[in-house]
Amino acid sequence: VTVEVTGLLQREAWRERRLPPVEQLRPWLWSIPVPMPRSPLRYVLVYALDTAGGLVVLDTGWNTPVAWTALTDGLAGIGASVAAVAGILVTHAHFDHYGLAGRIRAESGAWIALHRAEAAGLRHGLDAAQIRARYRDNLIGTGARPDVAERLAGPADAWRHAAEQPYPDRVFDDGDVLVPDLDLRAVWTPGHTPGHSCFVLPGHRLLLSGDHVLPRISPNISAYAGNVGNDAAGGPLAAYLDSLAAVADLDVDEVLPGHEYRFTGLADRSADLIEHHRLRLDEVLTAVREAPGSTAWEVAQRLTWSRPWHEMGEQQWPHAAGEALSHLQLLAHRGRIAGTAGTPVRWKEQHHG
Ligand SMILES: [Zn+2]
Repeated sequence: VTVEVTGLLQREAWRERRLPPVEQLRPWLWSIPVPMPRSPLRYVLVYALDTAGGLVVLDTGWNTPVAWTALTDGLAGIGASVAAVAGILVTHAHFDHYGLAGRIRAESGAWIALHRAEAAGLRHGLDAAQIRARYRDNLIGTGARPDVAERLAGPADAWRHAAEQPYPDRVFDDGDVLVPDLDLRAVWTPGHTPGHSCFVLPGHRLLLSGDHVLPRISPNISAYAGNVGNDAAGGPLAAYLDSLAAVADLDVDEVLPGHEYRFTGLADRSADLIEHHRLRLDEVLTAVREAPGSTAWEVAQRLTWSRPWHEMGEQQWPHAAGEALSHLQLLAHRGRIAGTAGTPVRWKEQHHG
């Protein structure tokens, strides 16, 4: 095994279910864990970079009081402050990474930078009730019972954050240099989200990987029927596998992820993740073969998860069904299966004469 954990204090804290400490990783670089109560991910790792253009933070944490306190305390602990933040780089617009960007900008005047494809997803023009309805309809399209979909969508108020996400000041593309003195460049890695991006510092041999490559878990690659931005050929899983191939050859020593702990061995970890999905595609094809006409929701119940479907908690069901759907879409793109028209979509093996 050539994947080695370098964040030893982080892994020790993970095993003991504690929040890891703030750590200085380079003379100009710190990691600040920001807690995510009641999430199995436990915390997001925010990075603080001392640059020629001022203090830059990379990812931010959930928009909650406990996360805000951890972030402000963490910055104070390294002799900085929210008011001193000059820029906010964001790997993707999920709430654990993007949630506090607006509040930091309001208190500091910092710019927010996000990939073009991720920014495009923010300007949907929908209010909280419409976003909720779209989510519920997507669940029904994957095969959730309407009453279950209604319950899982929760109250409309819970979607207010999704309707009110701040728009970035800077929109970047693959390869753009975002911090010149550190030669920090964007690497567009769609899959987990349409505009997910990693940031590489070739001179420092570092990759800040967000959720794209994590040391222990495989990030959720979800497709929802009709979801905006997931319309690339082969769907988000095809994009994710291409994005893994794109980072595997980067010449870096250490990977600084958005969760869990730092590690080395990017090429091997990327290969592990590609292999994970190859096996998963086989498992999904077998599930369709054994139960022709299954929905993604039904396929998900036949797959192996870290906890079985009925023990994982129903809030995890949409993630599991979305993950099953992304594999079904890629199998369909490869001509192995086909989905019916209509709602919900049902899947059958394709036999080629
Ligand atoms: Zn994410």
